[in-house]
Amino acid sequence: MHTQTSTKELTPTALTKLGRAPQRGSFDLDKICAILDASPMCHLGYQTGEATAVIPTCHWRVGDRVYWHGSRLSRTMQTSQAQKVCLTVTHLDGLVLARSGFHHSANYRSAMVFGYPEVVADRANKLAVLEAFIEGLFPGRWQTLRPPSQKEMNATTVLSLPLEEGSAKVRSGPPADLAQDLALPIWAGVIPLTVQAAAAQPCPHNPADVTPPEYVRQFCLD
Ligand SMILES: Cc1cc2nc3c(=O)[nH]c(=O)nc-3n(C[C@H](O)[C@H](O)[C@H](O)COP(=O)(O)OP(=O)(O)OC[C@H]3O[C@@H](n4cnc5c(N)ncnc54)[C@H](O)[C@@H]3O)c2cc1C
Repeated sequence: MHTQTSTKELTPTALTKLGRAPQRGSFDLDKICAILDASPMCHLGYQTGEATAVIPTCHWRVGDRVYWHGSRLSRTMQTSQAQKVCLTVTHLDGLVLARSGFHHSANYRSAMVFGYPEVVADRANKLAVLEAFIEGLFPGRWQTLRPPSQKEMNATTVLSLPLEEGSAKVRSGPPADLAQDLALPIWAGVIPLTVQAAAAQPCPHNPADVTPPEYVRQFCLD
């Protein structure tokens, strides 16, 4: 359930102004949202102790905010609240084989969002955004589930970032070889890569008369 965003360009900042290959970059919010929505997995970068940690986790978007959640006691959830963080989503779309090692590349779509996380403290809002997380992946599932207990809600922290400072970068298409290399007898091209759902694996505890819902069948066929 990703509510529609208006067509909007984010303002480049000192952090988000693209340096290398700026022609691949974009500040178009719809483009950034499409990249965020195309996977439930992000990487969250934050400072901790002597290093910058980059932690893989799940995210989802509702309107002009991106959300993630975790145990109230986790280092990531506690530490990342107090500082400016970077949330990144990357899709590796292909391996690009050129006629020189230098021009090998990757086709990709990636988005980076910077900001200060806010805790979703209000219980009704927290419940609504957690519902949006499940519904965004599996439409219709939330209403069929046991509602979260107070203990589960207390154990979970939900954080969010406004989609205000960020960027997208996309590479697509064939290798960008030098003109004088094009006639070399070397195969060049793109090996496309996709993430694909395989056949669903039912839990052994499923009652015999419980069959996969439509959204599971759709997930595995698409
Ligand atoms: C799968 C994949 C493979 C890549 N392989 C290489 C590689 O081998 N070598 C290489 O040099 N680069 C590679 N890139 C591109 C890389 O992500 C950087 O864009 C590039 O290295 C420039 O880095 P920089 O530190 O100069 O960033 P700068 O351009 O200085 O970054 C400034 C700002 O631009 C924006 N920005 C930069 N890169 C991205 C991005 N990828 N997505 C969204 N916003 C961005 C951010 O807001 C960032 O804060 C790859 C990207 C992907 C997704």
